[in-house]
Amino acid sequence: MNKKNNIDIEFILVEPSHPGNIGACARAIKNMGFKKLALVNPRKKITEEAFHRAKSAKDILENTVIYKSFDLAIREKNLILATSARERTIPWPTFYVDKISDEVKSQIKIKTTKTGIIFGREDNGLTNKELQKCHYHLIIPSSEEYSSLNLSHALQIVAFEIRKIVFDNKILKTEVREVVSNLENEKLLEHLMEVLKKIDFYDPKSSKQVKTRIDRLIKKTRLDKIEMGILRGFLSKIIDFEK
Ligand code: SAH
Repeated sequence: MNKKNNIDIEFILVEPSHPGNIGACARAIKNMGFKKLALVNPRKKITEEAFHRAKSAKDILENTVIYKSFDLAIREKNLILATSARERTIPWPTFYVDKISDEVKSQIKIKTTKTGIIFGREDNGLTNKELQKCHYHLIIPSSEEYSSLNLSHALQIVAFEIRKIVFDNKILKTEVREVVSNLENEKLLEHLMEVLKKIDFYDPKSSKQVKTRIDRLIKKTRLDKIEMGILRGFLSKIIDFEK
């Protein structure tokens, strides 16, 4: 199949420790028609073994972006999907990878969307904190007895499912709104928490989960630039009003 896509999807591996897995991921990305591989703080260099496993996807390995932190990797993204074999403490909007909602599918297909699909460490997966920085979680249905797949196998399956979405002409690109980046969402969260502290609604010491829950709410809403401007303006007015 020789279809081209201009959709911006980066596959991001967090602290991978096996060069062979990195190479196999590069191959899976290219096989499925994608281009971008990124690593957050890799524990090992991209070695000969990585190139050996990448076979004809050497170009993907050579163009791998290295981020110094998880936050830098997701900063400019406006759709962040985290993969995880396990459900975590505060339930997050989650899909089985073959049952992603039509709404999210159409978000992926929009040209202005910068999607990041995140994969965890071979030994420990992703932390709760990292998972909570993402919009949606994706689970590959697997055995209850042994649910965690090899990193590159997991990426292969996810990339295959995303490929089906990207090339499916029946999925409509309904959303024309320009959804804000993660960085802008982070700024809104801090602004809102500042106001909530000021009006004595929120005490970081006694209500630890409030911030996480509001973060989840903001991410679920997927604000566009105009809505963000209104909210930020509104919060600034409250702060000025208090003075
Ligand atoms: N031992 C780790 C799993 C590491 S597997 C743990 O228990 O969390 C490495 C990565 O592959 C995971 O972090 C996840 O990104 C992906 N992965 C493996 N199995 C998966 C599954 N069933 N569903 C979704 N992602 C999976």
